[in-house]
Amino acid sequence: MEDCLFCKIVAGEIPGDMVHVTEHTVAFRDLNSQAPTHVLVVPRDHYTNAAELAAADPAALAELVTTAAAVATAEGYDDYRLVFNTGAEAGQSVFHTHLHVLAGRPMTWPPG
Ligand code: 5GP
Ligand code: ZN
Repeated sequence: MEDCLFCKIVAGEIPGDMVHVTEHTVAFRDLNSQAPTHVLVVPRDHYTNAAELAAADPAALAELVTTAAAVATAEGYDDYRLVFNTGAEAGQSVFHTHLHVLAGRPMTWPPG
């Protein structure tokens, strides 16, 4: 999709600090890290949010989660937090589905 930041990172048009790639997903470090490990796992295809991806391609959604788990394991963490922000009020700022993987520090609840 034109003018989508994460489509451009997937396509290699904008550099990303890649940590893991699979057939349907790409994982790269968040530019503004909120934890010792903060990785974004995105589908290669453009969907606005997790629910749209789930409706269109459930296998790709599942692959986001298994990729996230593989990233956490590779970074040495058993415990991690996965977050999908959906909509601006919930904190979504990039409208290409992405799963945040956060690990390496104690997490508080509820989130801000
Ligand atoms: P959201 O707020 O949509 O849930 O998450 C978007 C994330 O993308 C934010 O955590 C932000 O730090 C990250 N981000 C924004 N621009 C870039 C970029 O150009 N490269 C990378 N790697 N991350 C970015
Ligand atoms: Zn996109």
